[in-house]
Amino acid sequence: MRFHALLFVVVFSAVAVSAQEPTTRIRAATVIDGTGKVLRNATIVVQGSKITSIDTGVSGSASYNLGQLTVLPGMIDVHAHVAWHFDKDGRYAARPGSPASEILYSAENAFVTLMAGFTTIQSPGSASDVELREAIARGALPGPRILTSIRQINERSGTPEEIRALVRQLKQDGADVVKIFASASIRDGGKQTMTEEQLRAVCGEANTLGMRTMVHAHSPESIKASVNAGCQQIEHGVFADDEVLKLMADKGVYFDPNIGVVLQNYLKNKAKFLGVGNYTEEGFAYMEKGLDLNKTMIKKAVATPNLKMVLGTDAVAGAHGHNADEIVERVRQGGQKPMDAIISATSLAAKSLGLEKAIGTLGPGYDADLIAVDGDPLSDISAVTRVAFVMKGGKVYKHVASGAKSNSEF
Ligand SMILES: [Zn+2]
Repeated sequence: MRFHALLFVVVFSAVAVSAQEPTTRIRAATVIDGTGKVLRNATIVVQGSKITSIDTGVSGSASYNLGQLTVLPGMIDVHAHVAWHFDKDGRYAARPGSPASEILYSAENAFVTLMAGFTTIQSPGSASDVELREAIARGALPGPRILTSIRQINERSGTPEEIRALVRQLKQDGADVVKIFASASIRDGGKQTMTEEQLRAVCGEANTLGMRTMVHAHSPESIKASVNAGCQQIEHGVFADDEVLKLMADKGVYFDPNIGVVLQNYLKNKAKFLGVGNYTEEGFAYMEKGLDLNKTMIKKAVATPNLKMVLGTDAVAGAHGHNADEIVERVRQGGQKPMDAIISATSLAAKSLGLEKAIGTLGPGYDADLIAVDGDPLSDISAVTRVAFVMKGGKVYKHVASGAKSNSEF
């Protein structure tokens, strides 16, 4: 990992905030608000951690004049394994190291993710996520806001009654979401693994408790069974066909396909994973085939009316900081309109997390989570990978001076 000469400014606001919170004015030629609107020559006024107004066409002083950069809401990745890392020998760590090394690797991943413009991520669960979530929320450690499932529920989690108890325990332990494995990994063919009774138990109990659910499901049967069991979001869906895509759209279930980052990252880093668990030659052959399956699937998904497709990467070791590639590939491979791809990573992703009143949109009353990218993503979607400015909760974490090289090489 190499740091480019970037100039970034970290502003620590005073802990004891007086009635007069500092005002920051951010001006840019173009602002995309996350809901589909574009504002020109806009000044975003931030007081403390919130946006208070967005003014257009006015001049006056600006704390940050971002010139020709395009401002967007901080991006959201609804599926990023923030704890996954390569070890000091460069290999994927099959077993956790010391608690101290695990949390430091997680903090590094959180940092590069924030620098790539992602101000919120959802982690489908590692033991260290809660401590990381709390440390970042305290305000000094730079990283995205984190939501986590802490653990996962799968076909070996027990009887329906035992599964219901596990869901209640997750709530007690502070999980933000329940992560479920309804099918095998793509490296094992992706067939359904949990029974319908098990799926009804986990998603039924979660719904009763008001907890969100996200389900790893590749095969059409596993997607159908999950949707019919009342689960709220489907992950991956490599084998999703027209029927289940329509079923998700009809039932208002969120779909989080991962077509632009995870498989490419595994194949690029094959030597670092090979030999651990199901990272076998056969597993890699499945993943290689998955690239084409994904290409076919994403075109169908984009063409499915009313399908609520959110942005998630399944970022694992090696992929952190490259999250925005998923947005680029949605447009390139899937033919999604750039504005729709941006909405899926901002206001729609926020809605899937139940945070639509706080993040994912630029407007008065929203958290001041915003980024600026070099270029116009509506005409060149790769601009979302060139993040020059990052503000989260009113604090500036990154500001690349204009003309300096961007952050493409973390
Ligand atoms: Zn995952």
